[in-house]
Amino acid sequence: MHLNYGKPKRTMAPEPLVTPPMTDPEPVPHCDVCGALAEQQSSARRAHDMSRVSDLNIEIRRHPHEGR
Ligand SMILES: [Zn+2]
Repeated sequence: MHLNYGKPKRTMAPEPLVTPPMTDPEPVPHCDVCGALAEQQSSARRAHDMSRVSDLNIEIRRHPHEGR
């Protein structure tokens, strides 16, 4: 019988820059989504919810943008 060695890892994330996780990413200036995420992040930071802050860091960093 064929053994299943688990699901292949998805390595689709295009991350050209390796940014240290401690650094806040720059939200893209004219992007509503990034702006909203950055706002949520600052309120999370005010609430000292650091796990949410770093979640939002990841979301901001991963938000795709067309063109540059
Ligand atoms: Zn964005």
